[in-house]
Amino acid sequence: MVIEYSGIVVRSVLTDKREKFYDSKGIGCYMFRIDEAEVVDATMHGSAARFINHSCEPNCYSRVIHVEGHKRIVIFALRRILRGEELTYDYKFPIEEPAAKLPCNCGARRCRRFLN
Ligand SMILES: [Zn+2]
Repeated sequence: MVIEYSGIVVRSVLTDKREKFYDSKGIGCYMFRIDEAEVVDATMHGSAARFINHSCEPNCYSRVIHVEGHKRIVIFALRRILRGEELTYDYKFPIEEPAAKLPCNCGARRCRRFLN
């Protein structure tokens, strides 16, 4: 285990509203989807895990685990990680239509070119 992606658990239906609010204030938004119903919003109250970037060839992965009845997002190492090495994991965004494609700049040899 590397770090928990902690933050405030919010219902999915509230994420658009929160994102718009953060945008209007110029605040960078950090959210991680737990499942269809819930999202962790780490924007204002969250761990440093929110700063971990995506990579198509990552050294970590994320898992939703259940702890005493609560869902928690945890980042685990995929392999031995060297001191000073950047932590990355695959964001696994849902596949969207071409118009909404987010380009990936991870620089991995086998980069998929898009995050979604
Ligand atoms: Zn990539």
